Amino acid sequence: MTLENTIVPESKLLYIETFGFQMNVSDSEKIAALLKGLGYGLTDSHANADLILLNTCSVRAKAEHKVYSQLGRFRGLKQERTGVLLGVGGCVAQQEGERLLKKVPWLDLVFGTHNLHLLPEMVRAAERGERRAEVAFIDAETRLDLFPPGDAPAGTTRFVTVMQGCDNYCSYCIVPYVRGREISRRSAEIVAEITAAVAAGVKEVTLLGQNVNSYGGKTDGEISFARLLREIAAIDGLERIRFTTSHPKDVSPELLDCFAALPKLCGHIHLPAQSGSDTVLAAMNRGYTRAEYLALVAALTTARPGIQITGDMIVGFPGETEDDFQQTLSLMEEIHYADLFSFIYSVRSGTKAAQLPDGINRKEKQERLDRLQSLQREFTAQRNSSFVGTRQRVLVEGMSKRGNQLYGRTDGNRVVNLVAEPSLVGTMVEVTITDSSQHSLLGEIVA
Ligand code: SF4
Repeated sequence: MTLENTIVPESKLLYIETFGFQMNVSDSEKIAALLKGLGYGLTDSHANADLILLNTCSVRAKAEHKVYSQLGRFRGLKQERTGVLLGVGGCVAQQEGERLLKKVPWLDLVFGTHNLHLLPEMVRAAERGERRAEVAFIDAETRLDLFPPGDAPAGTTRFVTVMQGCDNYCSYCIVPYVRGREISRRSAEIVAEITAAVAAGVKEVTLLGQNVNSYGGKTDGEISFARLLREIAAIDGLERIRFTTSHPKDVSPELLDCFAALPKLCGHIHLPAQSGSDTVLAAMNRGYTRAEYLALVAALTTARPGIQITGDMIVGFPGETEDDFQQTLSLMEEIHYADLFSFIYSVRSGTKAAQLPDGINRKEKQERLDRLQSLQREFTAQRNSSFVGTRQRVLVEGMSKRGNQLYGRTDGNRVVNLVAEPSLVGTMVEVTITDSSQHSLLGEIVA
């Protein structure tokens, strides 16, 4: 995923390539804001950039390999244009630290997940020819003080980071090691940031965190996630609230009440199950059983009828049998996910699961993934076609990639394309859904 870069008239050009998911997109916005002070304006091309930063993700091996291939690609550019600076931040930087400077001699700086605040100083040092790596974790109090506010360009929607890190230690996951302990940002700062964003025209916020619904639980005197949602819902002019990612074990009764009581809270939840087998869930250290997950989905559907459930699934976890995999398929049959992100298990060195014997061959894993994805494609197509003929409220977010259409999303997070005046961007419109495809809906504005 590449952050949409906008050219601004600063004297030096910054190109940021963002890997992974929304959290990194949000961090890239903060990086851009921090470096504005040094005269760097964003460019959408690395070819003319003075500073190239790769904001990386190491959750899966594939994302990590991509970082190394991009670093190789930028070697030629560094040789052609002296003075271009190259840096790596995010999870791969955190994992590798100084080693990365040794492995990649044409790299100028490496900044870890807790070190964004040091970036301006590091870039200045790099401009003087000093190569540096900063990856030390910092204590919770200092981290809270340094939590950078978002500084995205004004738009209709905005990501707002509310917490970082994770204490769950799912056995396959590298996040607790590269992002550090869970910490919640101060609620007063979050509410102030969203209030200011809404005054600048933002209509929808997505609250971000590795485990967003455990917000406040580990921070003395902080309010709960459900309370935070209620405070944000009280902001005048804000139309919609979304959040991601949530852990099934941290969906509290108060959060269920929010889905029933807060119309601004969208009827969609991303609720990763990861497997449908109790044996695999226990080996993954997920902290819930299949029955508990199903009961939670039922409670969410009671609290908000029609809520759209999306999720993540891992296939080929060490020891997963065909029977375990069948239980994953049957969980999908019970839930009928609106969408599902599915992956082959990716060994992450340093995690508990990396020590488990893995008796399943690659071909078998791929075959399981293909079966799972084929089933999900049917569910997604059925789900999308079930909206045809219905009326939906759509927040129009911008021009679609096709150019002649606008796009927006329903309350349940389905993408809708529609032919309408560009002046409707940023407004909420009533739409009749006229057609559907695998990835989106087509709509007409209700006169
Ligand atoms: S909840 Fe589990 S999978 Fe999610 S970030 Fe934390 S350790 Fe990783």
